[in-house]
Amino acid sequence: VKNAGRKNFRFYSRALHDAIHTRLRMIRHLRKALEENQFVLYYQPIVSLKTGHLTRMEALVRWHHPVQGLISPDAFIPLAEDTGLIVPIGNWIAKEAITQLAYWRQKYNPELKMAINLSPVQLRSQEFEDIPWIHDLQSKGLNGEAVTIEITEGLLLNSETRVNHNLKMIHQIGIQIAIDDFGTGYSSLAYLRKFNIDFLKIDRSFVEDLKGVGFELCTAIIAMAHSLGLGVIAEGVETEEQEKLLTELECDYMQGYLYSKPLPADEIEKLLVLPYIR
Ligand code: C2E
Ligand code: CA
Ligand code: CA
Ligand code: CA
Repeated sequence: VKNAGRKNFRFYSRALHDAIHTRLRMIRHLRKALEENQFVLYYQPIVSLKTGHLTRMEALVRWHHPVQGLISPDAFIPLAEDTGLIVPIGNWIAKEAITQLAYWRQKYNPELKMAINLSPVQLRSQEFEDIPWIHDLQSKGLNGEAVTIEITEGLLLNSETRVNHNLKMIHQIGIQIAIDDFGTGYSSLAYLRKFNIDFLKIDRSFVEDLKGVGFELCTAIIAMAHSLGLGVIAEGVETEEQEKLLTELECDYMQGYLYSKPLPADEIEKLLVLPYIR
């Protein structure tokens, strides 16, 4: 018995050792990725239900790893958050998305807006206090209204002074705030009011389940949002049927594979030429 225990210990310590190594290597690679510009932004259109126009784009980051190829954000954002690397990576993302927006605005649509995902770690960081990329906006001649930030509900829960301050600053320059994955966390009406939220993004899981209990949830979320004067974006719209149900519920915007997958800038650009995409 004693022997077996010892073996197990060896086994686990070996596994632990490997895990630590893998993690350290990944952190090293992540740092290098930033230095060597290995991140790329993909863009996914957000469509206005009323007009069928592509009025917004969401920027979604990927890591173009020299060996592993394209890595999805779910596989590296958590590590970037743990190590604080999300702050410089996030600044790069914002700068890149703003540059792309300025280009698309002058070439295709002067009213196009860009949604940028912000990690809670960014909003909690001291560095964020003077919004690092405000100069990027200014130098491109854009005002805050051109940009919406997407944050998750959890961020609003424990009213932290710095987060409060940073969100206020963001609003002051006209940037709008959307709550991502709405309905999966614990936000309440009070938070939405207090932080002056502009949009709710209904989580994909509810859209997926529109023929089940998702219908009631979407109905309730849209009614509540509208009564508070917020816009609603449904994410993960994949079928005509979902689109139809959401239209009946008077959802304001749609996003999902039905319109387009997220694509690199030069591929998504084709959609910006069209007068409407639905
Ligand atoms: P999210 O912000 O909720 O983004 C939506 C995710 O759903 C994206 O995955 C998108 O590709 C996917 N999606 C969009 N439409 C459909 C659809 O119709 N069906 C299905 N099945 N999926 C759809 P992605 O790009 O892998 O991003 C995953 C998550 O990583 C994002 O979730 C966001 O939380 C995070 N993320 C992505 N880009 C950034 C970024 O620039 N900064 C930060 N902090 N987080 C990011
Ligand atoms: Ca998002
Ligand atoms: Ca989402
Ligand atoms: Ca998500």
